[in-house]
Amino acid sequence: MKRLVLKFGGSSVGTIEKSKKVANIVKEKFSAGNEIIVVVSAMEGVTNDLKEKSNSISKNFDNKELDVLLSSGEQISCSLLSGAIINLGLKARSWLSWQIPIVTNNNHTASQIINIKTEEIINFISKKGIAIIPGFQGIAADSRVTTLGRGGSDLSAVTIAKFFQTDSCEIYTDVEGVLTADPTINAKAKKIDKISYEEMLEMASLGAKVMQPISVQASMVNEIPIHVRSVFSGKEGTIITSQNEIDYKKVVTGISYSKNDAKVSLVGVVDKPGVAADIFEPLGNNNINIDMVIQNTSSDGKKTDVTFTLKREDLSKALSLIEKNKEKLNYNKIIHDDKVAKVSIIGAGMIANPGVTHKMFRSLANEKINILAISTSEIKISVLVQENFTQQSVKVLHKEFGLD
Ligand code: ADP
Ligand code: ASP
Ligand code: MG
Repeated sequence: MKRLVLKFGGSSVGTIEKSKKVANIVKEKFSAGNEIIVVVSAMEGVTNDLKEKSNSISKNFDNKELDVLLSSGEQISCSLLSGAIINLGLKARSWLSWQIPIVTNNNHTASQIINIKTEEIINFISKKGIAIIPGFQGIAADSRVTTLGRGGSDLSAVTIAKFFQTDSCEIYTDVEGVLTADPTINAKAKKIDKISYEEMLEMASLGAKVMQPISVQASMVNEIPIHVRSVFSGKEGTIITSQNEIDYKKVVTGISYSKNDAKVSLVGVVDKPGVAADIFEPLGNNNINIDMVIQNTSSDGKKTDVTFTLKREDLSKALSLIEKNKEKLNYNKIIHDDKVAKVSIIGAGMIANPGVTHKMFRSLANEKINILAISTSEIKISVLVQENFTQQSVKVLHKEFGLD
């Protein structure tokens, strides 16, 4: 007998019909003699709707109340699924996070799970019950409801796998697994059979929505392999696992993109020690993360330009912080652009294969796609391009690196 965590995303329980289908998948797994813990997201679109409602009251809606509001979506999908499983003649029960409890810190809207009490649920599943747990949420020490950040049901599933010491963690979604690119912008994207934690973390952080980045980090730290698979086809999906399980045949494993970025250039700043620190210090102090940075050396030793990228939602705050500091920074002008996108190639195979960089740049140049900024790590290269070239960039790189 095995103990399994089965997580169903919002796309898998988006309608009553889909919830009934999920109930049948759960029944099949249970009937094969396994102990089952199910983690469920809110029905597709529900969390977004709730967020919009809070926005229409105020853009600065209270964080703690927002958590109460957003967590309600999972209560609906959990009870519907549990009811559907009971209807199939099985024993099932849904819990809310505070009833278990799943204890988190009080970092509302982006909480971390600290502990999960397991006795009651282990007792239930050991007596042929199927436990249904809401993803995405917990309760803080002060008894207030918390949420884990968008897409956080993936993190719930991995953390539940850890605390319940399950034999596997299966993430059911609306695609065949982790694909070489987002299938909505490249129909030639193919399923990846196995991917390392490190590569998946890069793919997810750089925009592949299929797994929440923090959940991948949690699975890597705790060495919990994940099976990402389709709720529709029943076929084997993608195994996210440690690097030494993988035989790298390709240099590039996958391609991600994100359209959440903006670019800022300070033109004509003085080229002397301390200027970069003066630019970025107020941004850091205001929780603004900087991603790519380019600074030219000045040809005359006097003035240079500094360009950087950041999250689009932080752009206006960053601009006003820089303008406040204009006298100290002494730049000539500031230019910004929020119609940019970041396209990244990811692959552990890059480490042993020189020449990937120029191949990437050349194939974009052949399409007349201008590169606005570049950043690299051992296993990824990201470029910033104009947003309207996103799809074309993904497609040309997908082909260039043999993923079509
Ligand atoms: P769920 O509701 O199951 O949590 P998500 O919408 O969060 O599902 O994630 C699945 C979606 O992620 C897919 O429908 C697909 O459009 C998108 N996606 C983006 N990049 C990738 C990728 N590399 N592989 C698979 N899916 C991807
Ligand atoms: N329902 C939450 C969201 O939409 C959590 C999740 O889907 O994983 O972000
Ligand atoms: Mg998701």
